[in-house]
Amino acid sequence: MNARIVLLPGDGIGPEVTAQGRKVLEKVAKTFGHTFEFSTHAIGGNAIDDFGDPLPEATLTACRNSDAILLGAVGGPKWDDPNAKTRPEAGLLRIRKELGLFANLRPITAQECLIDASPLKREIVQGTDILFVRELTGGIYFGESGLTKNADGSETAFSTATYSTHEIERVVRIAAIAARQRSGHLTMVDKANVLEVSRLWRRVTERLIRAEFPDLKYDVVLVDAMAMHLISRPSTFDVVVTSNLFGDILTDEGSMLPGSMGLLPSASIGSSGPGLYEPIHGSAPDIAGKGVANPLATILAAAMLLRHSLKLESEAKAVETAVDQVLAQGFRTRDIAPKGHPSIGTEEMGQQVLDAL
Ligand code: ATP
Ligand code: MG
Repeated sequence: MNARIVLLPGDGIGPEVTAQGRKVLEKVAKTFGHTFEFSTHAIGGNAIDDFGDPLPEATLTACRNSDAILLGAVGGPKWDDPNAKTRPEAGLLRIRKELGLFANLRPITAQECLIDASPLKREIVQGTDILFVRELTGGIYFGESGLTKNADGSETAFSTATYSTHEIERVVRIAAIAARQRSGHLTMVDKANVLEVSRLWRRVTERLIRAEFPDLKYDVVLVDAMAMHLISRPSTFDVVVTSNLFGDILTDEGSMLPGSMGLLPSASIGSSGPGLYEPIHGSAPDIAGKGVANPLATILAAAMLLRHSLKLESEAKAVETAVDQVLAQGFRTRDIAPKGHPSIGTEEMGQQVLDAL
């Protein structure tokens, strides 16, 4: 197939890790007989420096005309001034909104060979392989809010969570399709015992699953209980779908399970158009430019790009298998190397994945 892929290296270690992601995609193209056309554009802090805008028009246009986008990371101390008129992260929020990327997919997989680095006991984490699907463009983060001054000088504030049937259906559908391709188990997380908006989530989801996905094993869990279950029995979940706020909190909790954040990718996708793929870690300014960043999260994000935007499942699996193999062989970047274990740099790790591919 022919595909246009936009690379947004961003700031800090972003350029170092996306370079490895690109090499892996190039190798996939060569091995499987595809043509991937790459173009690189500015986003984040460097785009503020060069264009006065964290999301320059040229970047947005290139993204709109692409099949998929691979992003590194944005931000850093240089742009942290709270009085600045724009921030690197604004570019990321805007691109999600502009491209209608309403579903955020975050796989949380405990790698067998890294389990001992998890803060939880091996028996608990073993076998954990969850795909979180978080609604990304609605709910309380985008609802009406306000602040009023009271007569006594104190203040009152409010933030509202709003969801429509349509917004719930489209994200649940993505989760249900993913569950079908995985173990066939979908869990919806809400707070329907208290919140009206959650009761709508529950009705809409149940109706949709009954009508379109009766083959799935479907259950609902209250968000407070889910916070416990993630720590007590993470291996019993497959696909978990939830709203923006609950998903934000649960995915951060979940990211601690595998023992290293450096291995976790994420995808933001819509109903049509390009998806945006990135590692969940930030720009890591403390190690930028040193050649020691772990590129595996970005390489696994590239695998998600192959799977979700280009529909190349075998190619995605091949990349994931190559990463598993490199880890099983004992190769480690500094962030995932146990004390006393030798570590390799960003380029070398990328090369090992290419060799395994
Ligand atoms: P952000 O606000 O962008 O999320 P942050 O400071 O919260 O940034 P990171 O930039 O992800 O978080 O960095 C957190 C820590 O993890 C840092 O010490 C960083 O060096 C380390 N780290 C993050 N990503 C990687 C990586 N790919 N390889 C090695 N270490 C990493
Ligand atoms: Mg952070």
